[in-house]
Amino acid sequence: MAEIGGLLAEIVGEAHVLRGDQITEDYGHDEALGLAPVVPAAVVRPADTAEVAAIVALACSYGVPLTGRGSGTGLSGACIPVAGGVVVSFERMNRILELDLDNQMAVVQPGVTLEQLDRAVAEVGLVYPVFPGELSASLGGNVATNAGGMRAVKYGVTRNQVVGLEAVLGSGEVIRCGGKFVKSSTGYDLTQLIIGSEGTLALVTEATLKLYPRPPFSATVLAPFATLDQITAAVPRVVASGIGPLMVEYVDLMTMASITAGGMFELGIPPDVKDRALAYLVIVLENRRDDRLGEDVEEVAKLVGGLGALDVYVLPPQSGAQLIAAREKAFWLAKAAGADDIIDAVVPRASIADYMDEAADLARASGSLVAGCGHAGDGNVHLSVFQPDQSVRGRLVHDILAAAVKRGGAVSGEHGIGVGKKDHVEALESPHKVALWRRIKQAFDPDTVLNPGTVFDPEPEAQP
Ligand SMILES: Cc1cc2nc3c(=O)[nH]c(=O)nc-3n(C[C@H](O)[C@H](O)[C@H](O)COP(=O)(O)OP(=O)(O)OC[C@H]3O[C@@H](n4cnc5c(N)ncnc54)[C@H](O)[C@@H]3O)c2cc1C
Repeated sequence: MAEIGGLLAEIVGEAHVLRGDQITEDYGHDEALGLAPVVPAAVVRPADTAEVAAIVALACSYGVPLTGRGSGTGLSGACIPVAGGVVVSFERMNRILELDLDNQMAVVQPGVTLEQLDRAVAEVGLVYPVFPGELSASLGGNVATNAGGMRAVKYGVTRNQVVGLEAVLGSGEVIRCGGKFVKSSTGYDLTQLIIGSEGTLALVTEATLKLYPRPPFSATVLAPFATLDQITAAVPRVVASGIGPLMVEYVDLMTMASITAGGMFELGIPPDVKDRALAYLVIVLENRRDDRLGEDVEEVAKLVGGLGALDVYVLPPQSGAQLIAAREKAFWLAKAAGADDIIDAVVPRASIADYMDEAADLARASGSLVAGCGHAGDGNVHLSVFQPDQSVRGRLVHDILAAAVKRGGAVSGEHGIGVGKKDHVEALESPHKVALWRRIKQAFDPDTVLNPGTVFDPEPEAQP
């Protein structure tokens, strides 16, 4: 490794290769719960695409595994390095290369964070609409995980926003796919294949993203319900209403109690309603005109009132913003409360009620607790699992994920598979599909240097 460290330094300069004590513990993990960190042999910080390509070529020659890293906010362990491997950190490739106002697109390097992009596009009245809860996440990480977040019910997820990529394949070749155009029938769509591949097919060195006009008016509607079932049954009706909400989130009682704890903000719910509420539906609407927003709010309030809400509140702007900000932090609250794992399954939206019932039954039967909130409008359920016994927890997580797959859903809606959920995927997905994934990886990454062991294990003969 001394040798490869020196060779990496020849590519990026000595100051941009970290070894030994220079490697802070942050580089060994992401934010996934319950996964052991791994200290890499080196961290390399390239400045441009040519340096990334040279790093990959070197890794191929020496059979050294590489793990791409954005901001390390992932929730699946996908950027945990391989022992003896090298972390390729994109922190220096952090420039917004272009804001193209005529085409309403941004061209960014992978290390640009969501916060950085949002600040820049807000100045020109535009928005990049993917808002996963952690705005320090990088665009490269977002592309690699196909990040979603609360606004997906209106705008879709990362794969709906990325129109072009530049990427370095596992072979060291640089490709450009897609571009500043919104349709193409030109061969296989490699852009879409790389999105969501969790750094296993290519290292993304540039992304071209769609931007939208930034609606100036928004309102937050909060509806307490007596049961979670009523909320999950109401969600498909809200989405199908044609009003086009920006967010449709559910928050269970335990999560709501923790996000409003400490009296940091008041939602103005009278005690008699609060006492009967077991779960909350949060709907955010936006519009470019205030009067139209008012009409939409009235319509939504009437709709959820008719679907069994105990009452309906239109929150003052500051409380609305605080509630959404607190909801975004729900993960940290679950972590602080001692959650042992997080499930991020997705089911058809109309199956959420039934799915949540089965998840609760499975948790009870195993003596565990599950609680949470989720992007209800997308059928994406985030369950914090409280069960310290690893083997009981492993079985429970498997059964809850199997219940999602059985309903036509999938193991992950947005966090990805990483190293944390790969055994469940291998067991629950069609073996033909997993075999095809392996063949695709082989085509992109013939020497298996890119993030081996993430999403699925390499076949024994392909181990680096
Ligand atoms: C509080 C909190 C809330 C969150 N809420 C959401 C949410 O609502 N929705 C959601 O989708 N996610 C959410 N996340 C998860 C996380 O923010 C996303 O997965 C995000 O996309 C990760 O970006 P990152 O830059 O931190 O990537 P990292 O964690 O650094 O890496 C993630 C994956 O991307 C790969 N990668 C990174 N950069 C590149 C690159 N340039 N080329 C190729 N591969 C690369 C890594 O190898 C790894 O496989 C949340 C996380 C936290 C901590």
